Amino acid sequence: MNDEHVRAVDPEVADALAGEEERQERTLAMIASENHASKAVLEAQGSVLTNKYAEGYPGSRYYAGCEYADEVENLAIERATELWGAEHVNVQPHSGTQANMGVYLAMLEPGDKILSLDLTHGGHLSHGHPANFAGQLYEVEQYEVDPETGYIDYDALEKKAEAFDPDIVVSGYSAYPRAVDFERIQAVAEDVGAYHLADIAHITGLVAAGVHPSPVGVADFVTGSTHKTIRAGRGGIIMTQEEYASEIDKAVFPGGQGGPLMHNIAGKAVGFKEALQPEFTEYAEQVVSNAKALADTFANHGLDVVSGGTDTHLVLVDLRPSHPDLTGGTAEEALERTGIVLNANTVPGETRSPFNPSGIRAGTAALTTRGFENPEVREVGEHIVRVVDNPDDEGVLGEVSDRVTELCAAHPLYR
Ligand SMILES: *Cc1c(COP(=O)(O)O)cnc(C)c1O
Repeated sequence: MNDEHVRAVDPEVADALAGEEERQERTLAMIASENHASKAVLEAQGSVLTNKYAEGYPGSRYYAGCEYADEVENLAIERATELWGAEHVNVQPHSGTQANMGVYLAMLEPGDKILSLDLTHGGHLSHGHPANFAGQLYEVEQYEVDPETGYIDYDALEKKAEAFDPDIVVSGYSAYPRAVDFERIQAVAEDVGAYHLADIAHITGLVAAGVHPSPVGVADFVTGSTHKTIRAGRGGIIMTQEEYASEIDKAVFPGGQGGPLMHNIAGKAVGFKEALQPEFTEYAEQVVSNAKALADTFANHGLDVVSGGTDTHLVLVDLRPSHPDLTGGTAEEALERTGIVLNANTVPGETRSPFNPSGIRAGTAALTTRGFENPEVREVGEHIVRVVDNPDDEGVLGEVSDRVTELCAAHPLYR
């Protein structure tokens, strides 16, 4: 991409940016939280709006000169409303974590209780991990997936909720391949008088396209990220009912943030417009179909696919049954050497350290963006199996790497 001005001022950064562009072009991004935004979204994010202070909300800002900032934020809000159908949308959170922080700040007092999924079972840091502010400010209890099936254990969740009496129940996950029963979790939350936050960070695009059940209109609060299965650039979003609108808005600004990243909000507006086109539904359907093809390929080659398959964009593999001596970290490193970039991940019933856990997680959102369909994804799945079976075999790694290069060249991203 054009970098003439960066190059003139700062060749070191220009080289790193060019290197990153080249890396994305010639490797397969299978980290389940990643995707490739369009040039239109990148342009909007790289725009002069990065210069503008617009504390406040459209029509009531703390600074002069906000007419275009207002226009952009209103467009982002209108489009998000159309995509997800929420009564109220806040597009200012800088990230998914900041979106969750907005909800906690709005509805909880320090010391209040959060019930969420255990991180090693697919939860997220911002759901109350001790290393995150959420774990430090609030009292946290966690539910789990059923170790036999890999599905959320809704009955156990209900019992935990009755015993713990949480103020908020969090659903929505980082490494959970199955459709979430938001209605069931809503019923549990209502029974114990708790709010329900559905964090759809990973599946915002799948929900927008209608290929995953929507928590909007079910849960009290829905948070999401805008850069995973929807390609609207890095950021977060909160959706809620009218009755909580002003509390949420106040918790985002001035509660947890200062000036909104207006350039990112411009990226969100453009990405949301792209997601409103009929092609986006086809894209989301293809993402899920590709993930199912990947899960099948793994299972057919003897890998243990957690929950036996997927309903989403991601597949989680527990390496222990098939490869007891191979850690996720070693698999991740060997795969990266071939140009297949995914991440080591904890699995339900994890027995190793989170720094070198027992599983790998793979997503199809980014590959689908570059035009991969079932045949290519099955082929990539077979390459992953070969590398996992032979992580030290230079010959195998070389062959897979050559094939990855060809697949990437046949499906260019930004060229
Ligand atoms: C990715 C993710 C987030 C948001 O992460 P950020 O990096 O802060 O944008 C929040 N919740 C879940 C469940 C996630 O997977």
